[in-house]
Amino acid sequence: MRIQNFKLLLFLALIAVARPGSGQQSMAPQGAEPQAAAKPVTPKPQDTEVWEPVPKVITPGASNSAPPSDAIILFDGKNLNQWVSAQDKSPAKWTVADGVLTVTKAPGVGNIETRQTFRNYQLHIEWKIPENITGSDQARGNSGLFLASTGPGDAGYELQILDSYNNKTYVNGQAGSIYKQGIPLVNPNRKPGEWQTYDVVWTAPTFGTDGSLKTPAYVTVLFNGVLVQDHFQLKGQTLYIGQPFYKPYEKAPIKLQAHGDRSEPISFRNIWVRELN
Ligand code: MG
Repeated sequence: MRIQNFKLLLFLALIAVARPGSGQQSMAPQGAEPQAAAKPVTPKPQDTEVWEPVPKVITPGASNSAPPSDAIILFDGKNLNQWVSAQDKSPAKWTVADGVLTVTKAPGVGNIETRQTFRNYQLHIEWKIPENITGSDQARGNSGLFLASTGPGDAGYELQILDSYNNKTYVNGQAGSIYKQGIPLVNPNRKPGEWQTYDVVWTAPTFGTDGSLKTPAYVTVLFNGVLVQDHFQLKGQTLYIGQPFYKPYEKAPIKLQAHGDRSEPISFRNIWVRELN
């Protein structure tokens, strides 16, 4: 080895020894102060465990369609005590027989809605198109679940109920649709005469004090256990004619539709709701 090379190597070796934090631990940017003996922290499983608040204990229903212990029962097959006319708030006049609620389509009866008002909730409802159903398109077993009833008639946010088993109609108006806004992801309809279920999670819209929209409404719907609306964002109230828009409300009843078509009336059973406020 030539003498110059030896001197260079010696010089470099001295620098490496003299520099603090040199070698594999040297991750500090140039010009940074030397770290004061910061020991590396070894993450532990306990670091990411959360112990409080403890979720409330409730008792689930005997089946996944039976109400859990914290549900508000809206219809259990016995009476319509929880329901009133959506038109004038008088006692609801639909028919209860054999544990089942059936729409009354007689003139002047109309839609019914809950006495109680709600904001955000989880809801279960079962409905059946009669086996002898007639009609076609929107005039075949049409009803509706209004997730918030913001006035008489059809004012509000409608999750469509219809016989969509081999019955062609506009797809944003078939069963499982958010009427004229949200097309269902799939069509899991059962045939007329069989009970069907909706399980709904409703996140109500929120409004500023001046009535302006703060956050839109969202809905998730399982239809016969199948996801058909996946955290769908609504554009406003569901309208038969025209573009949807929001109208401020705080809490609202849940409404069932007596649609004006001439097909045979449909039935409901086992309706319950869990508030999520
Ligand atoms: Mg309808």
